[in-house]
Amino acid sequence: MNQFAASMQEHREELVRLDTAIGDGDHGTNMDRGMRKALEQLGTQPQADVGGVLKTVAMALVSSVGGAAGPLYGTLFLQMGTALTGKAEVDLEEYAAAWRKGVQGVEARGKAEPGDKTMVDALLPAVEALEGAADLDSALQGAVSAAEQGMRDTIPLVARKGRASYLGDRSRDHQDPGATSSYYLFQTAAEALAG
Ligand code: ADP
Ligand code: MG
Repeated sequence: MNQFAASMQEHREELVRLDTAIGDGDHGTNMDRGMRKALEQLGTQPQADVGGVLKTVAMALVSSVGGAAGPLYGTLFLQMGTALTGKAEVDLEEYAAAWRKGVQGVEARGKAEPGDKTMVDALLPAVEALEGAADLDSALQGAVSAAEQGMRDTIPLVARKGRASYLGDRSRDHQDPGATSSYYLFQTAAEALAG
């Protein structure tokens, strides 16, 4: 979470630029503000278990981010946190299952399907890569590559969900901001957990 917050700060302008092209330009500031708030909350309410950390982050995102991404990332982390309640340690199978539950939450909440040009297009292939992997390092490597590919694959798509869908065909040839932040989420998870 520390590294994801740092990544959202580092990539804030890039995410703003992507969201300016096909949305309202707030995705970078939304994610940066939400993750700052999340770290603040974790600082004042230290959590003993992984599930508690994730749920605290979820609540911070939901309460501090007004855009679509707040409730959607909030749901991702809340569902992951629910899957990992009471756990101080998590093995690969539990980790992949928690991501699956989180992404199912995002799908249920946002009703986006693969190919709709949303964060789901980066999250879903990454989770599939985690599920198919034999060990943590290859799982993380596979997930990062899959998320990156999913992110790039949003470029030619026409958006069918969220603000970008209002543009219709004009949403084509732009990378989806939410898929991009989701790639950074897996990238930072891999950096934090590898080795
Ligand atoms: P807003 O669109 O309200 O300004 P953000 O700019 O923070 O919120 O987030 C935009 C991102 O949210 C999009 O790039 C897309 O990836 C994601 N998104 C929007 N609507 C949905 C949805 N229904 N399901 C999944 N992801 C969505
Ligand atoms: Mg926006």
